[in-house]
Amino acid sequence: MRNVGMLDLESENELFADEVRAAVEAVLDSRQYVNGPAVAEFEAKMAARFGIAHAIGVSSGTDAILCALMAAGIGPGDEVIVPTFTFFATAGCVHRAGATPVFVDIDPRTFNIDPARVAEAVTTKTRAIIPVHLFGQCAEMDEINEIAARGDLVVIEDAAQAIGATYKDRPACGLGLAGCLSFYPTKNLGGFGEGGMILTRDEAFAELCRRLRVHGESKRYVHERIGANFRMDTMKAAILLVKLKYLNEFTTRRRNNAAKYDTLLDGAPVERPLVRDYNACVYHQYSILCERRDELAAHLKEHGVGCGVYYPIPLHRQPCFGHLGADPDAFPNTDRVCERVLSLPVHPMLTDDDLSYVAECIHAFYGTHQGMV
Ligand SMILES: *Cc1c(COP(=O)(O)O)cnc(C)c1O
Repeated sequence: MRNVGMLDLESENELFADEVRAAVEAVLDSRQYVNGPAVAEFEAKMAARFGIAHAIGVSSGTDAILCALMAAGIGPGDEVIVPTFTFFATAGCVHRAGATPVFVDIDPRTFNIDPARVAEAVTTKTRAIIPVHLFGQCAEMDEINEIAARGDLVVIEDAAQAIGATYKDRPACGLGLAGCLSFYPTKNLGGFGEGGMILTRDEAFAELCRRLRVHGESKRYVHERIGANFRMDTMKAAILLVKLKYLNEFTTRRRNNAAKYDTLLDGAPVERPLVRDYNACVYHQYSILCERRDELAAHLKEHGVGCGVYYPIPLHRQPCFGHLGADPDAFPNTDRVCERVLSLPVHPMLTDDDLSYVAECIHAFYGTHQGMV
């Protein structure tokens, strides 16, 4: 039996093990373990790479979102619109900033927040929208920015899954006031530990984020605002500088893998992911919609194929948000997706044989074959 995991960090890390060791040693010798020169170098490289003037390295993707919300002045009494189908952090940060998350349904074909529902959710208390570029595809940013402009709202992109994605040839993280990245080990640019980044074209906003990263300190021991410890470890930045060199190649491999699945899964009764023609997706996940999902997942696992359900429970059904009183039946697209979504291995180290094997297992489960109509 073949073993095809959701990740293969072992073979991936072998590619640059020596470079990483050298980078780590240099940091050990430097004794500047926090916010050291490698952090500034990593920030400069990222800003240049995406053509977004300011990059602020922080402690995690979650902290990037929280810090951006704090810098935008979001707090008690404010409402922030988020998709209900996303990773928990998107809404958790809103609550931690003191504001109230307002959940909105998604477009079931792209898995991203539905702009029509966003427009309906705006109230006099709304201050911000956090579109999530889920699975590596950008949300409908023109429509979202138009709604934001009408209501004088801030747009903060949750681009944790979308590093390198573009929307109408413009990069994720450069489509709103600020964009947030995560370098959690499983992300497309995964570090060796936690890490995150805020990117923005707004100089004053960037300066505020830099201050909030160090407890809001403006001058030594002077705090005009209350921030937190959002700093990035130097070691993490040094390693990410090594891995960044491989990002383009890895993204290309993910795209090729996805294109192969699109063909290989032809004839199976599953909906393949839809990418809008103006979007360049980076396939953090390759997520299908399928019948008998849990049975299919069990079948794949029995045959050595890793797969995952992202996400089985939407935010509007999370116990901790029960007090918000969201109507549980107001998000039919999300509920349907939560029951049917399944993510297949799409990571850069997969071989053509791995991809064929995964597709064969799916066809075998449904009794179909490639090209069957
Ligand atoms: C991973 C992720 C985050 C949080 O990033 P961390 O680095 O794990 O804190 C936020 N939003 C989304 C959509 C994510 O996938």
